[in-house]
Amino acid sequence: MNVYDSARMADVLAPLGYAQVAAPEQADMIILNTCHIREKAAEKIYSELGRLRLLKRAGRLRGAAPILAVAGCVAQAEGAEMLRRAPYLDIVFGPQTYHRLPEMIARAERATASVERGAGILDTDFPAEVKFDHLPKVSSAAGSTSFLTIQEGCDKFCTFCVVPYTRGAEYSRPVAAVLEEGRRLVARGVRELTLLGQNVNAYHGAAPDGGCWDLSRLIGGLAEIDGLERIRYTTSHPRDMTPALCAAHRDCGALMPYLHLPAQSGSARILQAMNRGYGPEEYLASVERLRRARPDIALSGDFIVGFPGESDADFEATMALVRAVGYAQAYSFKYSARPGTPASQLAEQVPEALKGERLQRLQELLDEQQMAFNGAMVGRRLAVLLDRPGRQLGQLVGRSPYMQAVHLDAAADLLGEVVEVDIVAAHANSLAGRLTADLAGRAA
Ligand code: SAH
Ligand code: SF4
Repeated sequence: MNVYDSARMADVLAPLGYAQVAAPEQADMIILNTCHIREKAAEKIYSELGRLRLLKRAGRLRGAAPILAVAGCVAQAEGAEMLRRAPYLDIVFGPQTYHRLPEMIARAERATASVERGAGILDTDFPAEVKFDHLPKVSSAAGSTSFLTIQEGCDKFCTFCVVPYTRGAEYSRPVAAVLEEGRRLVARGVRELTLLGQNVNAYHGAAPDGGCWDLSRLIGGLAEIDGLERIRYTTSHPRDMTPALCAAHRDCGALMPYLHLPAQSGSARILQAMNRGYGPEEYLASVERLRRARPDIALSGDFIVGFPGESDADFEATMALVRAVGYAQAYSFKYSARPGTPASQLAEQVPEALKGERLQRLQELLDEQQMAFNGAMVGRRLAVLLDRPGRQLGQLVGRSPYMQAVHLDAAADLLGEVVEVDIVAAHANSLAGRLTADLAGRAA
């Protein structure tokens, strides 16, 4: 979502004369768009800011200091504290106020700043007006695949998670706005849309007919856009995996057979302490329902090891769930205590070393599953959307329906097309392929 937000910030800034540059040294303004989900991500910002501060100081001496801003969820969570810790910052703003950037920049430019101090403008409101209603239409998207935020925020309050505090309450964009943005992106050459939301499958957007559409209906509406070949969505909550959405995986040809469905844990006790609202049996039942609807669906997930109070038996339950599902790919993290969340107050924090051991065991199992999933593709023919140039000249990279990166020799004019590819080799994180005979002449 930060990638999407950054692109939208570029849209907001374009009318002011800003364009993106390749390196911070060339910039008149530098915005760090930040993530607060785990401590490691949040801490990186201060070391990065230390480096940028030197750039700013050098610029000031030359009389052209860049505006330095921090955006995103760390800005939202730390706000004034961030300005205290990094007083040379000009602007600190949260994820719900970036439509006000022009106003913030004008104020920053007016502020007379000394060599060391920034202007110190802070905007971490959750404004009554919705930012989407005040953003210009998308104009920054380039390429054949794009994100589209349809839902934001969260009301579920899992006990480990900062999202409800940093992104705010759950909100669904109206159907008409989503369809319009989708059409606009497709007109600009986009062939694949990934619908975004912290709880994307909780989507319930106001529809033009006065009703309310859920995600399955929205996907159906988007699938009618001429030229849109692929639809994906992320991230889904197991509690909102409705029968209608499962059925969409059977009925909607554009909907890709890949789903990111975070389980977090396989232990009923830990899932309850996390306030997830489902147990391992319900999660497995969702997986079964999905596989009945779309037998080849590839599953991905998120896992947290070392949640407070997690015993060996709880962890083994997670391992058992992973074995029962068989993931194509997954993310796993050590539990990170986040300020202000209920779980951070729990007494039974798990020692770091034990978290590390568990993470390693879980990741070994997930890596094995990913390798097996990729390995099973060798000898198969897959439809690949070629979406970027490869590292070597004459190579393009694309995505299989199952989200695997596929590398192959192909002429640059095939960029943006979906082509049939014979898979010849599998690696841990990607596949190697060959254009089918009818297209072989277009291998560069
Ligand atoms: N809304 C999604 C997840 C959003 S956060 C869901 O409910 O599944 C993305 C992922 O970050 C989570 O799935 C979780 O695995 C991880 N995460 C969130 N808070 C965390 C924390 N405090 N420590 C470790 N991992 C965390
Ligand atoms: Fe965080 Fe997801 Fe839980 Fe919401 S549902 S609180 S975003 S983990």
